[in-house]
Amino acid sequence: MQPFVYERPGRATAAIEAAVQPGAMFVAGGTTVFDLLKLNVLQAQRLVDIARLDMPQLHAIDVSATAIRLGALVRMADVATHGEIRAICPLIPQSLDLGASQQIRNMARLGGNVLQRTRCAYYREPSFAQCNRRNPGSGCAALEGHNRQHAVLGTSDACIAVYPGDFPQALVALDANVHTLGRGGKVRHIPFAELHRRPAHRPELETVLEQGELITGFTIPRGAWMRRSLYLKIRDRQSYAFALSSAAVALELTADGAVREARIALGGVATIPWRAKAAEAALKNKPMTEALAHQAAEQAFEGAVARSHNAFKIPLGKQTLVRALMSAAAMEVSA
Ligand code: SF4
Repeated sequence: MQPFVYERPGRATAAIEAAVQPGAMFVAGGTTVFDLLKLNVLQAQRLVDIARLDMPQLHAIDVSATAIRLGALVRMADVATHGEIRAICPLIPQSLDLGASQQIRNMARLGGNVLQRTRCAYYREPSFAQCNRRNPGSGCAALEGHNRQHAVLGTSDACIAVYPGDFPQALVALDANVHTLGRGGKVRHIPFAELHRRPAHRPELETVLEQGELITGFTIPRGAWMRRSLYLKIRDRQSYAFALSSAAVALELTADGAVREARIALGGVATIPWRAKAAEAALKNKPMTEALAHQAAEQAFEGAVARSHNAFKIPLGKQTLVRALMSAAAMEVSA
């Protein structure tokens, strides 16, 4: 690990001023950043520790009649165990429970969680020269290499790395907004679906955030579909592993079992948190049956591109979505 300057400002404005300097980056829980610094995948000249910033909204959880608001410095564990959120929307705490070990949930903050980096082995091993994401313009070793874990949706010829998170699947399915604070007090409210960039020809540009722009929190609008929601994650082992495929689903059914509203996002199979709008449209206003769930799954993977070792992700992803939808439809929810 290369030496860096460490600082811990008390105010958000000071943190932002420090973080706009070249080579500066924020750190809060540190569960991703320190890993990547130790591996020499990231190099920081200055680390700006924001974990104790004196800005109450960063640390707050607020549940109102219309929305759930989560501060960016709230710990994963605090939301995963929040009784009211568990009752209102099981998808949110399930995505956090399944997203990390208890030790990591106790440290990692929500803002950092959504910005975690890919687990592509070529990205995380600097001795591999070819990685467009880490070393722009160098090529992509995964295209012809070991790509069993890699994405089948949203890929490009420059990068096929899978987005590794779980909680972001809940955010994108539930139409969350992410709030940011930048230099000069500039506030932005960005649909979460627009936060991450597909790799296209510039995979090193992972989000739309500017240098020094601080995520302050998330707003998730409440809806009737939240009660019948869940997160299903399929992986090589049942604990402490990243998704081979996952599905975040939320359904609102009519009294006779038709789909009034559906919210679907996919993980483990795409380069960004992946909203499956075509699958949602396939369900709308139809009786929820297993045959319909299969139709939605076909829509969700329309256009998927498999590489040499990851073709299994397409049928696995479809089956994951079918199982998630049927499990959500079978949930007992109060009227
Ligand atoms: Fe790098 Fe992306 Fe290729 Fe992995 S898939 S080697 S992260 S360019």
